[in-house]
Amino acid sequence: MSSAVRLICPNLKCRTILSVPVVARGKTVRCRACGMRIQVPPGKDQPGSPTATPGANGTPATPSE
Ligand SMILES: [Zn+2]
Repeated sequence: MSSAVRLICPNLKCRTILSVPVVARGKTVRCRACGMRIQVPPGKDQPGSPTATPGANGTPATPSE
């Protein structure tokens, strides 16, 4: 039984782990560290969720030059 949802701030310069109450699902919370708005995913946590792509952005796939 989890009474809180853990989120990682999408701000690459922040990356603060936030714990928000489950009642915040489907709502938007604000990172207390950087102030960025974070959407809390609705529904239950599903292991192996296809939407879970942590750290996907950061390295360009192809050089622009
Ligand atoms: Zn943040």
